[in-house]
Amino acid sequence: MYDFNYQKPSSVADAVNAMKAASDGKVLAGGQTLLPTMKQRLASPSDVVDLAGCGDLSGISASGGSVTIGAMCTHAAVAGSSDVKGAIPALAAMAGDIGDPAVRARGTIGGSIANNDPAADYPAACVALGATIKTDRREISADDFFTGLFDTALAEDEIIVSVSFPAASKAAYEKFKQPASRFALVGVFVAQGSGGARVAVTGAGENGVFRVSAMESALSGNFSAGALDGASVSADGLNSDIHAQADYRAHLVGVLAKRAVAAAG
Ligand SMILES: Cc1cc2nc3c(=O)[nH]c(=O)nc-3n(C[C@H](O)[C@H](O)[C@H](O)COP(=O)(O)OP(=O)(O)OC[C@H]3O[C@@H](n4cnc5c(N)ncnc54)[C@H](O)[C@@H]3O)c2cc1C
Repeated sequence: MYDFNYQKPSSVADAVNAMKAASDGKVLAGGQTLLPTMKQRLASPSDVVDLAGCGDLSGISASGGSVTIGAMCTHAAVAGSSDVKGAIPALAAMAGDIGDPAVRARGTIGGSIANNDPAADYPAACVALGATIKTDRREISADDFFTGLFDTALAEDEIIVSVSFPAASKAAYEKFKQPASRFALVGVFVAQGSGGARVAVTGAGENGVFRVSAMESALSGNFSAGALDGASVSADGLNSDIHAQADYRAHLVGVLAKRAVAAAG
């Protein structure tokens, strides 16, 4: 690990100021990705701005048909929240199946979506549920937030404050796990909300999370697993690695989408 300046502000405003003053700052949330990367000397920020002291990044609340989750909420907190379980049980279940207990105790929703790992679970939930990401300076729809592999719409010094999810009338997530890491080899989140049916896939795309418009159309008038009979995705643009080839991932998208719709129903 290279030397760096450590700062622990007590508010989002102070954290933003610390980031603006740093030559190459990084905010620290649960540290599950950032710290290993620094230990391996793959990242060498000049300043690490620890968000753990920012009380305005914590808390989960439900009101007006949506649930809002502070960026520093851990996966375990989301999984155990009665507000999340009440509004969107599928989101609580998804959070409770991330990684292992140690990862869930430290990893945060803000860190997960800022990192935008192509196999992470939260990007699929955000896109399928039509979430809104609130930062220190603006609101970004999930459709505009995830811009590519480990890439997002965030500016270098921009900090996620919270994520708001509108409640869905039906929703479920099905994940085929990479058994060692428990990341998604493929994961499909389906939701039926006021804007219609949405299907979001993680783990499969070369550029990270993506929606399957053909499946969304098929589900719009008939939200049932049978409506997806014959629906498929092309292997073009899907990942091939030592764990699975692109055509296998394409097959899994169809299988998992049907399972998710059946579970949501
Ligand atoms: C063994 C293991 C298994 C895992 N399995 C899964 C899995 O099954 N599914 C899954 O989805 N994930 C999985 N993860 C990822 C994990 O759940 C975390 O979500 C992820 O590592 C990042 O979250 P973090 O809070 O630790 O962020 P950090 O590591 O602290 O930060 C990650 C990045 O996000 C930035 N960042 C953090 N917070 C903010 C913020 N509020 N605003 C702006 N930028 C921010 C940081 O600067 C950094 O660039 C796994 C991780 C490990 C180590």
